[in-house]
Amino acid sequence: MNDSNELPNVVMPHCPHRNLLRGQKALVTGASSGIGKSVAVYLAQEGADVVINFIGDKQAAHEVMETIRSNGGKSISIQADVSSEAQVQAMFAQMFDNFGTIDILVNNAGLQQDAPFHKMTLAQWQKVIDVNLTGQFLCAREAIREFKRRGVVPEISSAAGKIIGISSVHEVIPWAGHVNYAASKGGVKMLNKSIAQEVAPYRIRVNSVAPGAIRTPINQSAWETPEAYNKLMNLVPYKRIGEPEDIARTVTWLASDDADYITGVSLFVDGGMTLYPGFAEGG
Ligand code: NAD
Repeated sequence: MNDSNELPNVVMPHCPHRNLLRGQKALVTGASSGIGKSVAVYLAQEGADVVINFIGDKQAAHEVMETIRSNGGKSISIQADVSSEAQVQAMFAQMFDNFGTIDILVNNAGLQQDAPFHKMTLAQWQKVIDVNLTGQFLCAREAIREFKRRGVVPEISSAAGKIIGISSVHEVIPWAGHVNYAASKGGVKMLNKSIAQEVAPYRIRVNSVAPGAIRTPINQSAWETPEAYNKLMNLVPYKRIGEPEDIARTVTWLASDDADYITGVSLFVDGGMTLYPGFAEGG
């Protein structure tokens, strides 16, 4: 067997596109960078029309939109703060004006504001809860209203709508120094499971995807130097960092009818981070 140091960093399988999401309308929040950007591009590659939500970086959002358009897909970008009820409602109205409806919501926008607990300010606590948890609530509520109004359109999808919330391994792994973040993701887990239970009879599916360590701007300090990367690998049995595409492929599949009987799950995409790697040597 290879020593894990000799393993390639990432192996991307060749996935021919199957037009799994043809005719579907998707909204991805926080889609100008990282995981959201990759999810938007993957959904479009499977035939969905995609709204790129962003908060600050208009140019980056524009580039994601242009990438999709240059591949023949339809895309628009909409600026909105997901923690603002008025801005979320205006974003959905603009999406319906342009695309008519919504079939897939990917609640991806999120942030961290870290501090030792005794120094954490109420503003730091509130900001993370507002964006990571309340933002998912506000967007999910608008999407569910539309899914219930419209119902199933069988030639589009077996479901009346799909929501995928991006959670984190920290929905189950406690995280010192990041109490606000872990609390928000624990909330995301039960938000999505409870919505799933409530709306399953309407053929609406609601799931979470819980990433481990993914190479994006949010956690750059954890992978940008070889020392940091090697330390991070102590937490990852699969011995490579995740790439945004690892999450994008999972989200795309969960949004498709290939996953039609799946609702209310948190799917960990984490290279085994939730397997208690400290116990690998016998505990
Ligand atoms: P990222 O910083 O690249 O992406 C987060 C995006 O959310 C950014 O584009 C940011 O502008 C946007 N955003 C922030 N506040 C917003 C607001 N109020 N309204 C709208 N958009 C807002 O980092 P990422 O890693 O791609 O993060 C995406 C999601 O994945 C987050 O929910 C994050 O918690 C989650 N996640 C990431 C990792 C990881 O290792 N990268 C692990 C677990 C979970």
